[in-house]
Amino acid sequence: MVRNILKLSQKMSQEIINKFQLPARYAGSEKSVWVEYIQLAADYKPLNLGQGFPDYPPPKHVTDALADVAKSPNCLLHQYTRGYGHPRLVSAIARLYSHLIGREINPQTEVLTTLGAYEALFSTIVGHVDVGDEVIIIEPFFDCYEPMVKCAGGLPRFIPLRLRENVTGDLPSSADWVLDKNELEGLFNDKTKIIILNTPHNPLGKVFKMAELELIANLCKKWNVLCISDEVYEWIVYKPNKHVRIATLPGMWERTITIGSAGKTFSVTGWKLGWAYGPAHLMVNLQMVHQNCVYTGNTPVQEAVAVSFEKEIARLDKDECYFNSISSELAAKRDFTSKFLCDVGMKPTIPEGGYFMVADWSPLESKVDLATEGDKYKDYRFTKWMTKHVGLQGIPPTAFYSEPHKNLAENFVRYCFFKKDENLQKAAEILRNWKCGKN
Ligand code: PMP
Ligand code: GLN
Repeated sequence: MVRNILKLSQKMSQEIINKFQLPARYAGSEKSVWVEYIQLAADYKPLNLGQGFPDYPPPKHVTDALADVAKSPNCLLHQYTRGYGHPRLVSAIARLYSHLIGREINPQTEVLTTLGAYEALFSTIVGHVDVGDEVIIIEPFFDCYEPMVKCAGGLPRFIPLRLRENVTGDLPSSADWVLDKNELEGLFNDKTKIIILNTPHNPLGKVFKMAELELIANLCKKWNVLCISDEVYEWIVYKPNKHVRIATLPGMWERTITIGSAGKTFSVTGWKLGWAYGPAHLMVNLQMVHQNCVYTGNTPVQEAVAVSFEKEIARLDKDECYFNSISSELAAKRDFTSKFLCDVGMKPTIPEGGYFMVADWSPLESKVDLATEGDKYKDYRFTKWMTKHVGLQGIPPTAFYSEPHKNLAENFVRYCFFKKDENLQKAAEILRNWKCGKN
């Protein structure tokens, strides 16, 4: 009797398991480097240069703005706001980008605010990709692009940035990671719907130059393709580099959706507020996805970000504007980090923008016991071993490549250098001690 019940319940659970398998369109997307490495950091408590976030306070006027919202006599700031974006925030975003793009952006129809840049990417991809559409993704890529395209029924087509031969003996710059023109041209065809661009780039820090953007723009126009431009690091660009918004290139406004993040813009990654802007005829599809998924974002955070934008818009040309000062603050951290990575024998790529640095760790391979970790790719084994035995965490860049190209990234690690100086000094010390066998 008991055995029969057991058998029956086993059969039932097998039936349930069979029926409720993960839908096929998500197959291959089960693993997330963030889930795994954030848990690893919690378990081993290393010095964490993994996930990208600052470990010191954001600008005071930004956190004050949120505190003021909480204390505001306007109780409606705690209730639902307009679905496509809080009115004060879409106005500020439209005002800022109208100025930067050099055309009037309509806050009602050409801006959508979202739950982080993640949701802006999701609404754009799901709102525009149809079954069988091809989407060109430049590698390495922010890892959510691929699963988002697949869940919309699209077909990702990958093209890697390749590190060109460096004859000078100098350290490589992110500008040395380049697209092959013929390879890119060869990916465009009648089924191509979208290309996803990310500048400044995560993880390389590449800031795409005008000629590179023109190549992409001309192909978009030739093949009638939409460009999704992920510009979440738009304000973090090291001199003499300049961020160019591809939407400003001739004929590109009408086929570009640009994505931003308050998390990156104001160094408040936990606020999870993003936006997309573009022409109304493209934005309607995003609005449709958004209205049926989250409908409306968080009102207090939107109000606080609106107030923060207003303050920066009023001082855009001044050094104290956070959009200008953040890069100087980070340039010193970038230089310090590249120096200590070199000192220990790694070969970093010097980023032109963003707050990540990739470094070739392979000269140190003999100092690491990769055999103790079971992962398929060496960068996963290296970063896990370093977290557990040396106490320093980085991110394995193969997470940002399609399966056939992961071999291109196995010798690299990504470090985030948006950390207080004291912690960067600690990281330097950890690596120095390890190099000379003290830990
Ligand atoms: N795009 C890129 C390139 C990123 O690095 C990130 C990580 N923040 C996002 C999008 C997502 O941003 P958010 O945290 O605002 O969702
Ligand atoms: N964009 C951040 C990074 O690349 C955070 C990613 C995340 O938390 N999913 O580290």
